Amino acid sequence: IKRDARFAELTPEHVAYFRSLLGSESAVLDGVTNPDDASVADDIEPYNSDWMRKYRGHTRLVLRPSTTEEVSKILKYCNDNMLAVVPQGGNTGLVGGSVPVFDEIVINVSRMNRILDFDAVSGILVVEAGVILEVADQYLAERGHIFPLDLGAKGSCHVGGNVSTNAGGLRLLRYGSLHGTVLGLEAVLADGTVVDDLCRLRKNNTGYDLKQLFIGAEGTLGIVTKVSIQCPQRPAAQNVAFFGLESFEAAQQAFREAKGQLGEILSAFELMDETSQSLVQRVTGNKRPLEGRHPFYCLVETSGSNAEHDAEKLSTFLESVLESGIVADGTLADNETQVRALWAWREGIPEALGHLGGTYKYDVSIPLSDLYKLVEDTKARIAEAGLLDETAEDKNDTTERPPVRAVVGYGHMGDANLHLNVSTRRFDPRVEQVLEPFVYEWIAERQGSISAEHGLGLMKKKYIGYSRNPTMVGLMKSIKNSFDPNGILNPYKYL
Ligand code: FAD
Repeated sequence: IKRDARFAELTPEHVAYFRSLLGSESAVLDGVTNPDDASVADDIEPYNSDWMRKYRGHTRLVLRPSTTEEVSKILKYCNDNMLAVVPQGGNTGLVGGSVPVFDEIVINVSRMNRILDFDAVSGILVVEAGVILEVADQYLAERGHIFPLDLGAKGSCHVGGNVSTNAGGLRLLRYGSLHGTVLGLEAVLADGTVVDDLCRLRKNNTGYDLKQLFIGAEGTLGIVTKVSIQCPQRPAAQNVAFFGLESFEAAQQAFREAKGQLGEILSAFELMDETSQSLVQRVTGNKRPLEGRHPFYCLVETSGSNAEHDAEKLSTFLESVLESGIVADGTLADNETQVRALWAWREGIPEALGHLGGTYKYDVSIPLSDLYKLVEDTKARIAEAGLLDETAEDKNDTTERPPVRAVVGYGHMGDANLHLNVSTRRFDPRVEQVLEPFVYEWIAERQGSISAEHGLGLMKKKYIGYSRNPTMVGLMKSIKNSFDPNGILNPYKYL
């Protein structure tokens, strides 16, 4: 990609305007007037590089507004002066969307971190965009409620970032997507116009539901500044079962049974394959939850109001799927520590993979019946190309080996969302060529989605056509043009 010549280069005069607007020292990180100051460069660096250390931008200016009015004035000035910007929250995104590509100004909303209102009767929470997800959830826990979203990055990601990526996470099966739970939001358009749709109503059928456009827009339509969200009562009890299965067909049957027998208390149904579990064991050294080895494992969580009643329901379910032969073996967590230990076998997979070298990550939605076939077909393709070698080696082993160490499948089976991860000794263009566009074509043939949760950002920019037809991409472009005619908001990303 080339830098878009329509965008202006930053000058000390621009910076002087932002300084006069934002005042405080920490609100403007200025590498424009201080190009040789190493400590300023160090301060700016974290805003330029993403969580995976895969993408790196070259901004020389970070702005940290603390009010909607400041965001509005910044954007109006940028729009009038053709200065490109990147909205940034907790910078935990996984597709390179939250960092600049060239010298775009980073507008980071972390100082907009006030919890504005909570109504314990309706469960409606109103927050500024920069509130950290875990902070919001803890605030709610003290008031008997729960944030309807949970994910591994909760200690750093922002509610505004979650909304902007339409994050899915671990509670989606139970509480649905943010398209349903977000009741309203406030956002600032590229020209500084404040869109006040901070509605607190569950029902509001008055024309187009425009807030939906900002949910998952990845910072291309405006900067989200406030969010109101419907939060459920915090469940009093959480129970977990973990079981081993002999085939993916059996996993599908178990999912149907779980929905039927556990009904409204079912809150998660996660899938892990044997390769993923043996990797977690190799890295953590922990004892596996089940004695024998099985091609697949599922983790089932229930959340309800009565621990005893839920535990009984879950153990009756486990007995029935064991008796009918759907499940080969299973275990139940008896206490909070065991619940966390069982979850660690699911949540520990990305970290375990990280210990092996580089990982090619695909986060996709596929009709459930074909979900795991993608892993098998990808593995066969890599093996055929002579790039797979699953043997473990110790530190002193200097043998030159094929780059791929493991092809792993796991994910939110309850949402038909698979994480296909290809773990390599090192990033290797031969592996990338075997994987892309193969994976995207495979998904398109089955009417799946090339991005279930993480969005498109910079990483999947080229591939939107595999999941959206030209009419839809055209409509997206016309919406983008009417919200941001100069294209200053998060340029070079997916539109
Ligand atoms: P950032 O990374 O800062 O930004 C993400 C995108 O949103 C960028 O395009 C940015 O420009 C835009 N943006 C951010 N804030 C705003 C704003 N206020 N207004 C407009 N645009 C904005 N995702 C899932 O869906 N499910 C998971 O289970 C999940 N697990 C994860 C686990 C880990 C360990 C990590 C690192 C990430 C995970 N993610 C997951 C990725 C997920 O997208 C992010 O964690 C989170 O939703 C992004 O929030 P953020 O505040 O960090 O946004």
